[in-house]
Amino acid sequence: MDTEQKTVDVSFENLLRIFTVPEGPDSTLTKIEEELSRNLNQFLREHIVAEEKPLKEIEKDFSNPTIPEQPSFVSDHTQHLLDTLVSHSVHTSAPSFIGHMTSALPYFLMPLSKIMIALNQNLVKIETSKAFTPLERQVLGMLHRLVYQQNDTFYTQWMHSAEHSLGAFCSGGTIANITALWVARNNALKAQGDFQGVEKEGLFKAMKHYGYNGMAVLVSKRGHYSLKKAADVLGLGQDELIAIDTDDANRLCPSALAKQLKQLQQQNIKVIAVIGVAGTTETGNIDPLDEIAELCQQYQCHFHVDAAWGGATLMSNRYRTLLKGIERADSVTIDAHKQLYIPMGAGMVLFKNPDSMRSVEHHAQYILRKGSKDLGSHTLEGSRSGMAMLVYAAMNIISRPGYELLINQSIEKAQYFAKLITHQPDFELISAPELCLLTYRYVPEKTRKALKVASGKPLAELNDKLNELTQFIQKTQRETGRSFVSRTQLNPQHLEQRDTIVFRVVLANPLTQNEILQAVLEEQREIAAKAPNLNKQLMSLTNELLKK
Ligand SMILES: *Cc1c(COP(=O)(O)O)cnc(C)c1O
Repeated sequence: MDTEQKTVDVSFENLLRIFTVPEGPDSTLTKIEEELSRNLNQFLREHIVAEEKPLKEIEKDFSNPTIPEQPSFVSDHTQHLLDTLVSHSVHTSAPSFIGHMTSALPYFLMPLSKIMIALNQNLVKIETSKAFTPLERQVLGMLHRLVYQQNDTFYTQWMHSAEHSLGAFCSGGTIANITALWVARNNALKAQGDFQGVEKEGLFKAMKHYGYNGMAVLVSKRGHYSLKKAADVLGLGQDELIAIDTDDANRLCPSALAKQLKQLQQQNIKVIAVIGVAGTTETGNIDPLDEIAELCQQYQCHFHVDAAWGGATLMSNRYRTLLKGIERADSVTIDAHKQLYIPMGAGMVLFKNPDSMRSVEHHAQYILRKGSKDLGSHTLEGSRSGMAMLVYAAMNIISRPGYELLINQSIEKAQYFAKLITHQPDFELISAPELCLLTYRYVPEKTRKALKVASGKPLAELNDKLNELTQFIQKTQRETGRSFVSRTQLNPQHLEQRDTIVFRVVLANPLTQNEILQAVLEEQREIAAKAPNLNKQLMSLTNELLKK
C-alpha cells in the first residue's frame, strides 16, 4: 500500500464536480475507456488473471464493513477495482469458457449501454421514460410475434393498448416465471359471486370458495429451480410443484403427465399450470410441447413454456420446428440475456392473450393511474431500467437472419463436438445436443469396457470413482484458468439412473472454434493423468470387472 497517497477532502464543491466534470485525459478511468473502445477483448485478457486465487484470499480484500469516512480519487479507486475486482472476475466472454449460458456480447452494446445508463429512464411509468415505454412495448410485440405469429391487425390493436399487455419485461427468467405463475394463479382463482378473487382475499379463502383440496403446478424433473421459488412466493408451497418423469432424452413423459393430471382431478386438486421446458438448463432438451398443450386443453389449465434459454431458437427458420407447440402456450418465458446475447438483466414473459395480465393489474394514485400506459401496472418489479433498448438495438443491428446464423452455428458446433467426443476412446457422451448444450465425461478406455458389463453394486462403485474423477478434472481445469466447462449431476438410464457427475458445455460463443474444443478434451485427458490414486482405484475396479 502506498502510504503517501494524496487524499481528497469532503467538500460540496468536489461533490458537484463528480456530477458534472468528466475525468481528465490522463486519468485512469479515461484510459480504461479508451482501452475498452480500442480492444475490449485485449483489455479483458490483460486484466483478468488466469491463475485462480482462492476465494478465502479474495475475501480478505472485501472484509471491511465500514463505509469510508475519507473519499478517494476516482483514478485511485479505479486502479483499486482493477487490482482487486476485475483481475479476479470470470472471463465469461473467452472463447474457451464454454460452461455458461451467458457468454460473449456484441461490441456495440458497450457504448449503447452507456447511453442507457446516462439517460437513466425508469420504465415503471411514462413520466420517467416517455419513448422508452412504446419501445419496450414494441420489443414485447416483436418477441410475441416470434412465438405466436399473429397478424398485423393483432399487433396494431393490442401492442400499445393501455388496457392490455402482451407481456412483461423484467430482470430475468426467474421473475418471468414467477410472473407467469402469478397470472395463472390469479386467473385460476378469480373473482366469482361473493368471492373477490385470490389477489384480494388470499389463498385460504380461495380454496374455501372453490372447494378445492389443494393446488399444484406440474413440470418435468428437469425444471429450473426458479419454479420452486415461484411456488414458494406464490403461497403454493414447494411441495405443490410436482415433478413429472422424463424419458431417456430428459424430456417430459406425456403419459406420466396424463396420469398425474387424472389423479389430481380425482383428488379435487386444482392444477394452476403445467410447464413445458424448451431447453432444459442442464441438458438443453425440449419437452414435447404439442402433447403437453393437448393435455392442458383437455384439463383446462394454464400452459406455460419456460424457454428462458432455448426460446432464441425461434429466430432460426431451420431449427424453430424443434419448439413446435410453443405457439399453443398461454405464456412463455424468454431470457434475452442468454441466447439473444444481451447483458444480464433482460428477461421477458409473453402472454398469448392480451387480457391475461389483467388479473395482476395494480393501480396507485400518484402513478399507474387507470387508463395510463404505465408499464408498472402489470410488472412485479417497480423501478426498471431501459434495458429493452439494448434488445431493440440488437434485433435491428443483427436482424432475424443474423440471429439465425448465430443459433445455427451454435447448434452445429455442438453437433461437431458431440461427434468429436464419440470418436474418442476415452470420453463418453452422456446427453447428445438437441440445441447447443451437451454433457459428457472422461472414462479411461479400459473402464468403458468394464462399464458395459457392470451392473448393481460394481457399477455403483465404478460410477462413484468416475464421479470423483470428473469433479477433479473440472475443478483443476477451472483453477488452471485456460478453459472452463461447468458440471452438473444427471441420472442417465443406461447407468441405472445412478447419480452421475458430468461436464456441461454450452456452445453459444461464436468465437469458439473447433480447435478450442479439441484442446479442451486434450487438457481434460492430461489432467486425468494427474490423479494417480484415483486412476489406481479405478483400474483395480475395472480389472475386477473384466476378469469375470
Ligand atoms: C436461466 C433459466 C431460468 C432462470 O433465469 P434467470 O435469468 O437466471 O433468472 C429459468 N429457466 C430456465 C430453463 C433457464 O435456463
